[in-house]
Amino acid sequence: MADYAAFYQRSLQEPDAFWREQAERIEWAAPPTQICDTSRPPFASWFADGSTNLCHNAVDRHLAERAEQPALIWVSSETDQERIVSYAELDREVQRMAAIFRQFGVGQGDRVLIYLPMIPEAAFAMLACARIGAIHCVVFGGFASGSLATRIDDAQPKLIVSADAGSRGGKVIPYKPLLDGALAQAQHPPAHVLLVDRGLAPMEKAQGRDHDYTDLRGQHIDADVPCTWLPATHPSYVLYTSGTTGKPKGVQRDTGGYAVALAASMRHIFDAQPGDTFFCASDIGWVVGHSYILYAPLLAGLSTVIYEGLPIQPDAGVWWRLVERHRVNIMFTSPTAIRILKKHDPAHLKASDLSSLRTLFLAGEPLDEPTSTWVADSLGVPVTDNYWQTETGWPILTIARGVAPQPGKPGSPGVPMYGYRVGLYDDASGEPIQEPGRKGVLGIEGPLPPGCLQTVWGDDERFVSTYWKSIPGRMVYSTFDWGVRDVDGYYFILGRTDDVLNVAGHRLGSREIEEVITGHPAVAEAAVVGVADAEKGQVAVAFVVPRGAGPLEDEAEKAAVGQAILARVAGELGAVAKPARVVFVPVLPKTRSGKLLRRAIQAVCEGRDPGDLSTMEDAGALEWVRRG
Ligand code: ATP
Ligand code: MG
Repeated sequence: MADYAAFYQRSLQEPDAFWREQAERIEWAAPPTQICDTSRPPFASWFADGSTNLCHNAVDRHLAERAEQPALIWVSSETDQERIVSYAELDREVQRMAAIFRQFGVGQGDRVLIYLPMIPEAAFAMLACARIGAIHCVVFGGFASGSLATRIDDAQPKLIVSADAGSRGGKVIPYKPLLDGALAQAQHPPAHVLLVDRGLAPMEKAQGRDHDYTDLRGQHIDADVPCTWLPATHPSYVLYTSGTTGKPKGVQRDTGGYAVALAASMRHIFDAQPGDTFFCASDIGWVVGHSYILYAPLLAGLSTVIYEGLPIQPDAGVWWRLVERHRVNIMFTSPTAIRILKKHDPAHLKASDLSSLRTLFLAGEPLDEPTSTWVADSLGVPVTDNYWQTETGWPILTIARGVAPQPGKPGSPGVPMYGYRVGLYDDASGEPIQEPGRKGVLGIEGPLPPGCLQTVWGDDERFVSTYWKSIPGRMVYSTFDWGVRDVDGYYFILGRTDDVLNVAGHRLGSREIEEVITGHPAVAEAAVVGVADAEKGQVAVAFVVPRGAGPLEDEAEKAAVGQAILARVAGELGAVAKPARVVFVPVLPKTRSGKLLRRAIQAVCEGRDPGDLSTMEDAGALEWVRRG
């Protein structure tokens, strides 16, 4: 396939033929005859009369050809452990876990909540759910009791799988007290809890409710639990969005469409071959982890690295030694992680043999050009940005490296991926924007391609009203992100639709102002929010993390850098965009997945309740905002 444009056009013009071919990338108990049922828009049912199983496709189907190949390569820089699990071993462990689930009465359609650190048992548990048709609901390990309790009540699981503790930056984080707190708060606590004891923290066990994984595993050592064939539309999991803009939404994913979408993405986007080693440095609590730590690499017969730890612990060379040792071919992480590495000596990257590495993929937030160039130069491999959401499960915009690796453009994640009818819409009139260079809301015309959310868990109404009714006058899926398209069809993401300031009648994007500010050499990071103002409606306030400690400690330096920032914004965007205040802070409030919590900053500035902060990384960061 020489030309990506032709490939893309075909996916839109002949969707049935296109996706029928992609469906052959997985094994079916009953192959689908119906490709997409759109009789109830905006709902779409993919491969509705087919039946398959995610675990069969991720594990069992590989046993004939690659039983001894590593399936999981678990590395913990926290506990200094490593464990390699072959496909044959993975099959055994998943069947044992599935047998334990069965013992607790977990069956098809029941929810299992997984609250685990990055350990192999997390993968066993997710795959065991898929094997028996239970719906997993992974909650990021280490979330506070309140956040966990909300998710327990929303998912109403029959079983929770957890552990004694996680570890972060060498510090043990006991999970069991957090879990006990959540179970006490929840209205719908499950009858059973399965606990993996890593020997990191003492655990008190509630008689009759709490069970030891090692004991039960021993009882089911020879377990034989066949895969349950499921309708393609059977839910595989519920996963909550990052909560950057408000209350997290429970994204419900199907089985067959997801398997096909991920298998296709490994071929067309990630250009991955069976037998390759894939290192996705994210967390299984996020969508990137679900799709690209666990399911996609296994569906495609790769070896996948499960990494517990930070990118800079014990030092900034830890990932690169791992790449050398396990001959990693493809890496995937977030711009935040690279920005953290960028603060350290690049010699850490050069010290390891990175010759196995072919590409680095980055996703999750805007990738600024200096970061992209720095990492591409340091690693000596192409860097590909990709833009998507928990809702879609796989990239919306990127470069399809396996089809025709067209050149990327700095600052752009790329072009629409096959199957996505991406467009830009005027936020006031809802009219599609045709001309290049004009900003609009990034929308997707239905049906969404396979792999995207089926609905919001337990709330079809919220699915329709949230996603399909916000672009005026037409039923188009809203991403809630601003975008712009250039003459060559490349898209640029300009920030979130609710991150808009209205200063004296001028509408300004937070992101645009932030980009100008971070262009100043003394600035590491910036967040701009609109704060209510009696005279102008809103004024911009900038929170800035400086590169050195100077502007934090030295008044003269603070004033000088502050002035330079204001001049820069006025020069590039006009005086109206000039922040009313520049506040220097050592750290910005972010979600644990690395996204800026602008709404929380804004609320604090306006003296309001910052709302749901369950996914916030560092509570102290908001304290700095408050003091500023
Ligand atoms: P919530 O929906 O709960 O407010 P969230 O949108 O942060 O949280 P995610 O689904 O984890 O939850 O994140 C998706 C969002 O992240 C996108 O809508 C976009 O704003 C941002 N994003 C992801 N990848 C990129 C990228 N490559 N470039 C720019 N922005 C990105
Ligand atoms: Mg979102």
